Amino acid sequence: MKLILLGPPGAGKGTQAKRLQDRYGIVQISTGDMLRAEVAAGSDIGREAKAVMEAGKLVSDDILIRMLAARVDRSDCSKGFILDGFPRTVPQATALDSMLASRRMELDAVVELKVDDAALTDRIAGRYTCATCGAGYHDDFQKPRTAAVCDACAGTTFTRRADDNRETVGARLAAYHQQTAPILPHYAAQGRLQAVDGMADIDDVTKALTALLDGLGKR
Ligand code: ADP
Ligand code: ADP
Ligand code: ZN
Repeated sequence: MKLILLGPPGAGKGTQAKRLQDRYGIVQISTGDMLRAEVAAGSDIGREAKAVMEAGKLVSDDILIRMLAARVDRSDCSKGFILDGFPRTVPQATALDSMLASRRMELDAVVELKVDDAALTDRIAGRYTCATCGAGYHDDFQKPRTAAVCDACAGTTFTRRADDNRETVGARLAAYHQQTAPILPHYAAQGRLQAVDGMADIDDVTKALTALLDGLGKR
């Protein structure tokens, strides 16, 4: 299964992608995670991306398109993938179309997680991640069962992203509305776009997504 999860920053793409990868045996491809790994490694790409990411702007299409093409060719993608954070511009969407066509791959679904802007600031400001296994949490909406202990790996070290602050959220939402939202009509025109209510509780969003995806083969 090949799937794109679309939606503004904080919509719940990463949270849901992690659940779907276990259920469907497909891999989450998060371009944000890939870029943060480049920044941490101090690579050429990382050095170029760091300031742009911290300002809440988008990294160049060129870098992202090359990065993604290399990623989908890795063997763990053979059963499929969930794109989380890509494409984010019309040129990225167009490049993805040709990338998939040349590999004789087809998207099964493009799902937009719909969340009001007003809810996103609180989601982003409260987001944190287990430093050991990458499991995602939230100060108010998704606490670990035992305070300060990761449910998944019992790790006790957590990290917050440099760009997850109330000052940068405005720029990230503006980038979403100006540069990313225009790809919605691109996929609507292909007859692939579907929407799920991302304002619901995390478990209910998962139920809506799995109902949609389980239904795909039966159409
Ligand atoms: P994205 O990948 O779209 O940027 P995340 O999945 O990282 O978003 O979610 C952002 C934050 O909001 C995380 O801290 C997560 O725990 C929390 N969150 C995700 N989905 C929901 C939801 N449906 N309701 C409330 N909080 C949520
Ligand atoms: P979120 O879902 O919270 O917006 P991501 O982890 O997807 O966060 O992305 C973090 C940052 O990485 C973005 O604000 C942007 O600077 C950069 N980035 C990630 N994916 C892309 C992409 N496809 N194109 C351009 N920039 C990207
Ligand atoms: Zn963990």
